Amino acid sequence: MEKWIACLCACLILAGCSSVPLTGRKQLLLVSDQDVLSSSLTQYSEYMKTAKKTSSGKDASMVTRVGKKIAAATEQYLRNNGMADEIKNFAWEFNLVKDNQVNAFCMPGGKIVVYEGLMDLVDSDDELAVVLGHEVAHAVAKHSNERMSQQIVAQYGAQILGAAVANKSAAVQTVASSVYGIGAQYGVMLPFSRKHESEADYMGLILMTMAGYNPDVAVGFWQKMSAGSGGKVPEFMSTHPSDAHRISDIQKELPAIKATYGKR
Ligand SMILES: [Zn+2]
Repeated sequence: MEKWIACLCACLILAGCSSVPLTGRKQLLLVSDQDVLSSSLTQYSEYMKTAKKTSSGKDASMVTRVGKKIAAATEQYLRNNGMADEIKNFAWEFNLVKDNQVNAFCMPGGKIVVYEGLMDLVDSDDELAVVLGHEVAHAVAKHSNERMSQQIVAQYGAQILGAAVANKSAAVQTVASSVYGIGAQYGVMLPFSRKHESEADYMGLILMTMAGYNPDVAVGFWQKMSAGSGGKVPEFMSTHPSDAHRISDIQKELPAIKATYGKR
């Protein structure tokens, strides 16, 4: 209830309420796109300086090939649905990095990183599209901005409505480091909430379908991911927590997604 009131007040005064593309869910976004992009780009560049990039080979070209198709489908969707303004927020990059972790992430602005360890579990372009669709969805839904906004409200409370936000960029810097968590135990991105995970699953399936991939592989792929490999649970499951309903939600959503967004 308190959160709801905080959201409502903030929305009314700062006009910070937006809707998530494809789901229409109302969200509180208090940080400007520009501030989110500049803070995340700093963190991303720092990360890429230390990461060992794999720029050639079958897996690297697969990441680029699938990523570009999903990015193109995403931009086309935004363009066709009155959100062409959003396209300027993306400067897509698709990187494969030498790291045995089974993980992937996408930072605001469309900076996508896939760890080599994840590719061991990927058997087709369709399966990679499940992961990349999911990651791109986090970026398109501005989940980072939403988390930063929630932290601003949590840290600054009612002051957010007054003078404290006059120096919003200082507040943004503070919350950005806690949202991206560079060097924290989970690596680059801190875990998303389960609500954001379900939304990224749903939107990701739509984006991969629009890009021409087969979303039917999603159920088998997530089962493979939850089973892990060699007795090890993939890091992806730590940074992208899911609940027991994940697979059944996807099964429920698939028919309508295919009917609406599949190739006819
Ligand atoms: Zn996720």
